[in-house]
Amino acid sequence: MQMKNVASSGITVCGRTYDEYIEMIKAFHGSVAPGMVLGGFMVDLAYRNLPQGEYFDAICETRACLPDAIQILTPCTVGNGWLRIVDLGRFALSLFEKYTGKGVRVYVDSQELDDWPEVKAFFFKLKPKKEQDSEALIREVNLAHTSIFGVQKVMIDLDSVKSHRRDTFAVCPSCGEGYPENDGEVCLGCQGEAPYLHSEVLGSQED
Ligand code: ZN
Repeated sequence: MQMKNVASSGITVCGRTYDEYIEMIKAFHGSVAPGMVLGGFMVDLAYRNLPQGEYFDAICETRACLPDAIQILTPCTVGNGWLRIVDLGRFALSLFEKYTGKGVRVYVDSQELDDWPEVKAFFFKLKPKKEQDSEALIREVNLAHTSIFGVQKVMIDLDSVKSHRRDTFAVCPSCGEGYPENDGEVCLGCQGEAPYLHSEVLGSQED
């Protein structure tokens, strides 16, 4: 496996070496998903286009892979609220200054993909997953590196990404659990949006 790092030599991801980043992916995401490798390059590219030393919030436009790349390379997580997923189905992310909304967006430039058939097949799902040659794909990802991405300056609509839902909580008269009062007379779960076919209480969890 001498060939292993030829393509990736010299690549860094937010201050880590490529191999360090690959180890981080394995630990957090489970497998070295190509989307995580691409995502790391995108986060790195976004940082390179932002002023140093400031704190940024993140928006991710897909649920696939990219949120995990953001979560292991930046302080932004879904849980702390600094990463918001706006699921537009586009493999793109923005990092922005939270008070002004000024930031940068990194996206996949589909016109650049013609030179990279494996990467193109990956993004446009042109091959069933089991027919994907993941070694060839990762090799192409490393050779393409950031050349397949575009960078835009953006101004985020802060109102649209702010959560207004959690201002006041009430006890739902139907299930007895707390819920954001703005959601209606009963919680969204009791309005039919819960994904459970069946549920039953297992009894008190005290000793
Ligand atoms: Zn309820």
